[in-house]
Amino acid sequence: MMIIDNFKDLRSQLSTANSFGNSIGFVPTMGALHSGHASLIIKSKETCDLTVCSIFVNPLQFNNREDYIHYPATVEKDIPLLEELGCDILFLPSEEEVYPDEASKNKHYELGYLENILEGKFRPGHFQGVCLVVERLLAIVKPDLLFLGQKDFQQCLVIEKLIQLMDADIKVVKCPTLREDSGLAKSSRNLRLTESELKTAAELYKALNFISKNSKDQSFIHLQKETTDHLESLGFKIEYIALANANTLELEDNFKPDTKQVILIAAYLNGIRLIDNLIIN
Ligand code: AMP
Repeated sequence: MMIIDNFKDLRSQLSTANSFGNSIGFVPTMGALHSGHASLIIKSKETCDLTVCSIFVNPLQFNNREDYIHYPATVEKDIPLLEELGCDILFLPSEEEVYPDEASKNKHYELGYLENILEGKFRPGHFQGVCLVVERLLAIVKPDLLFLGQKDFQQCLVIEKLIQLMDADIKVVKCPTLREDSGLAKSSRNLRLTESELKTAAELYKALNFISKNSKDQSFIHLQKETTDHLESLGFKIEYIALANANTLELEDNFKPDTKQVILIAAYLNGIRLIDNLIIN
């Protein structure tokens, strides 16, 4: 695997790949890689000639400084994992490389409705930061396919919107959420949870399934209240439990058996923010 730390070298390597007509698959990450990330790399390897992974903990997408400071960094373990998976190029830029000056941090993206709800509402500025780094990466990597995890459901829609704004020809491949045996969605932030917190954290996925299972007989509003009370009694601080149209993410108050919907949850457990979601119908 080639490890590259600057945009110039990355572009020159990829130009050679482009000129041979090789398809490029791209998996952007913030590192502390786990099997969820690995599943994206595997999918890219299956579908593309060349797989590029990036690791960059993007300061501009953290609206909470503590979360940024404590974000796990395990690059010495990430590299052998990527090598084992057969990743072709790891892009590992510095902050100065990604944001060389103030101007590079100041662009604004018209994300509309997506920016004002759920993650957008509770993490002001988060998606602007995501778009800044992803636009820069996409412009250099110019992938044919971009592999994203459904775990970050709203992020997938935001990046699709970004690709539209860029008028780029990039296909987003949304990959299913990989979970622990307990059902807990794999996440780099899980590294910050103790053994007992990990057990409690698995209750989030149980709550999503509980809502889904009872969606035929009970109203969403009732189930939302019941699960909020239950999770709060276990020590969670709930930011939202929401129901939305799975294609547009428009929020909905009622289950619609004929529509693909998604239940989304965000909650803190002892200061660690966790998110998860479940598609129903
Ligand atoms: P992150 O490093 O958290 O920014 O995630 C990088 C990519 O991996 C994003 O597209 C995530 O949605 C995806 N991802 C994170 N966790 C999982 C998971 N448990 N299963 C599948 N994909 C995931």
